[in-house]
Amino acid sequence: MTLEHLIAWKAAVVALALVGLFVAERIWPAAPRPDPRWARVARNGGLWLLAAALSIGFVAPLTAWAVEARLDWRPDWWRGWPGLALDLIVLDGLIYGWHRANHTVPFLWRFHAVHHYDRFLDTTSALRFHVGEVALSATARAGVVWLFGFPLASILAFETLLLGATLFHHSNLWIPAGLESLMSRIVITPALHWVHHHRVQADTDSTYGTILSLWDPLFGTRSTTRRTPAMPIGVAGADERSFVGLLLAPAEPQPTRAARRG
Ligand SMILES: [Zn+2]
Repeated sequence: MTLEHLIAWKAAVVALALVGLFVAERIWPAAPRPDPRWARVARNGGLWLLAAALSIGFVAPLTAWAVEARLDWRPDWWRGWPGLALDLIVLDGLIYGWHRANHTVPFLWRFHAVHHYDRFLDTTSALRFHVGEVALSATARAGVVWLFGFPLASILAFETLLLGATLFHHSNLWIPAGLESLMSRIVITPALHWVHHHRVQADTDSTYGTILSLWDPLFGTRSTTRRTPAMPIGVAGADERSFVGLLLAPAEPQPTRAARRG
């Protein structure tokens, strides 16, 4: 399979997951959608369009450069299919660390908070990231790709899984409790990730996993809060902004972590 094929596959799988989940969460919602319904979808979509433009103009060329210039120190056993499986686990662990840093490093939180100001969650929340966060994470990822020598196939496979997982765990899709609890032993489910968006700082600063659910129990960052349909979503002590307000939010004076704790 050529590189163009892989990229086309990735786009097709992600588009299918987006449309499928977007429709399914409206037919079988876990929590009632607040009014007005389309204003936040438009805000999230607008942020996505800006991020998509940045991906084409900056993220993709930067990633291609990092793959080209990557350090070649990998032993033979870290290649082929076992290498791909190991790459996916290592990349997921690194994303856990990066997400955690986005909550604990004040400069990174300025940008990541824009994702958390959303007062409800559905698949469109998975598209809602400030361009500053997109640029910062692409730069961090380029460094990681260069250092670990990840091949392009591993990065494309990981991104496909990452986007699919992100759409899934932000979605408002109702899943039978027994099935969800079974799934949560392996992957981050909506019930787990909604707790990360709970409007209570102790929960916001917990449960950082993206694909695999093992990292939070391993590093002691799993919240014990259970998701309920009426659970308030957002950032404690902060309001949602207009589209322009969201773009400017990282430049605002930030409340201290003590103030966010209320
Ligand atoms: Zn977060």
